[in-house]
Amino acid sequence: MNYIFLGMPGSGKGTQAEALAEKFNIPIISTGNCFRKHIKNETELGLQVKDILEKGDLVPDEITFEMMKKEIETMDISNGLILDGYPRSIKQAELLKEFLKIDIVLNIELSEDQVLLRIGGRRTCKCGETYHIKFNPPQKEGICDKCGKELYIRDDSKEETIKNRLQVYKEQTAPLIDFYKEQIINIDGNPPIPEVTEEISKKLEINN
Ligand code: ADP
Ligand code: AMP
Repeated sequence: MNYIFLGMPGSGKGTQAEALAEKFNIPIISTGNCFRKHIKNETELGLQVKDILEKGDLVPDEITFEMMKKEIETMDISNGLILDGYPRSIKQAELLKEFLKIDIVLNIELSEDQVLLRIGGRRTCKCGETYHIKFNPPQKEGICDKCGKELYIRDDSKEETIKNRLQVYKEQTAPLIDFYKEQIINIDGNPPIPEVTEEISKKLEINN
């Protein structure tokens, strides 16, 4: 089965994608993580997209699609795949349709106020793990439980950038809820992380 996680920035897509990936033993592709890796490694693509991510705009559709396709080609997706952060526009969804069948779209619903609290306390590790200073703190402050590296605050967590990201979500990404109306399962993103994971598991069982 192939899954997409939809939702506002900070709604918990990455966190729940990790949990589902572990449960089903299937890989995740997070386009945001891929871009951040390119930026860190100063690749040609990284240099091209650095300013776009810092502003909170979307990387152009064709560039994002090509990067995602290349990444998928290196993965074993025989049991399925989880897409976290892709697609983010109707054009991206149309490109994806020609390439991969999507079975289920999990749409995490959360208010803007909560999203701001979540992004405000988010701490990220280069290995891909995500924490929250209050809601999901690491065992040792500032250090990743999984790999021991130092956690950092993402460059796109500034107030202006977050405002722009929410606007971009409303204009370009929210229309996907209708695009995927046949595959969508709505998830309440408000409860604590394990409870959201549990709701996703239950709803997936019902739909199987
Ligand atoms: P997204 O991938 O949608 O941008 P993340 O998974 O990075 O969102 O989550 C944003 C922040 O909120 C992170 O700091 C994460 O630890 C925290 N978080 C995620 N889900 C929950 C939850 N259900 N309750 C409280 N905090 C959460
Ligand atoms: P995320 O880690 O999902 O919050 O994404 C961080 C940033 O990466 C976004 O604000 C965009 O600038 C860029 N990005 C991630 N996924 C996409 C996508 N599917 N299309 C365009 N830009 C993307």
